[in-house]
Amino acid sequence: MPTVFFIDTAEKTASVVHSFLCFIIVKKWNLFVERNFIHVLDEQSLKSWLVEHGEAPFRAKQIFNWLWERCARNLDEMTNIGKGVRKKMSSSFICSPLSLVKKEESEETIKFLWKLHDGALVESVLICAPGRSTVCVSSQVGCGMRCSFCASGKVGFIRNLEASEIASQVLYINRYLTEKDGGVTHVVYMGMGEPLQNYENVVESIRMLTDRFGISRRRVTVSTVGVIEGIERLSGEGLGINLALSLHAPNQKLRQKLIPYARSVDLGELLFAIEQFREKTGREVTYEYILIQGVNDSTEDAGELASLLHKRGGCVNLIPYNPVEGVRMKRPCKEEIERFRAVLRREGVANTCRYTKGKKISAACGQLALHSFE
Ligand code: SF4
Repeated sequence: MPTVFFIDTAEKTASVVHSFLCFIIVKKWNLFVERNFIHVLDEQSLKSWLVEHGEAPFRAKQIFNWLWERCARNLDEMTNIGKGVRKKMSSSFICSPLSLVKKEESEETIKFLWKLHDGALVESVLICAPGRSTVCVSSQVGCGMRCSFCASGKVGFIRNLEASEIASQVLYINRYLTEKDGGVTHVVYMGMGEPLQNYENVVESIRMLTDRFGISRRRVTVSTVGVIEGIERLSGEGLGINLALSLHAPNQKLRQKLIPYARSVDLGELLFAIEQFREKTGREVTYEYILIQGVNDSTEDAGELASLLHKRGGCVNLIPYNPVEGVRMKRPCKEEIERFRAVLRREGVANTCRYTKGKKISAACGQLALHSFE
């Protein structure tokens, strides 16, 4: 019996070791039958893939053009690519990262609700002004930061978006605009999610959009609630993009009430990281400040904000609060907003007040949340 026991144990051990090795091999060489997004491939990789699959390499240029210039939404649109190649592509790659579920328009704002390949939902917003079409992209499904004033924070974190899913929001909206004789001019990472908590994918999507789609780096802005490690990494990427800090309060105490994540971030250290970003990149930083009645909109708050920022440069972007269902916060009236701005002006702090487009369709800042489409 001991012999049988020994053989049995040895077999089991061998089987476990075998499974473990297989797992390592499969992981290392990515042998899972998972399909990658086609947008991940640059022109050279597309060429190699075509050759490996017995197809003509010159097709790579055509496919690349369909993806990044003509912003194709699916393979059927690629009419100069043979059906055989398209079939091979569809079995190897996810070629349509998003599908449009719903589009809502209000004033100069359009909100798009997309379904991702796994069924998750995400939103982006197009904000149009004369000579300017800005796409506000989401970087996560939901958001784990749970800012008290934000609809996305109420959803909670669901998952990170892949780089292709982020870039495709811009591509698809650009396609929508070109059909109307326009095109995307600016991209802001201010939709659902904290971009710097999905660092690699966000940076990869920025490279895709600037290098392949061709948007100017200076017209791309990443917004953060203050992920210091991410700000430090971003300043060394050589991307040449802008940064916006969601400040929302003039001091640590109030800030951490509004942004739970701020409890783990010292405001002094955060502003130092911002300073370093400006020095290293030569790019300006915008401070986003949502004005909430009776919470952070007093003249004292304005004075404190001015002393915090007046030697740092940069512009404060004031955003009057937009009511969110289930949140008992109010928007200050015009006089209160002007009083706040007057203090900043007097103290020499540059500021703008964002005209809140898209309020009627819950597309304004802090209002992106899946329930708003239900
Ligand atoms: S404001 Fe931004 S960081 Fe805060 S919960 Fe909303 S989406 Fe997340």
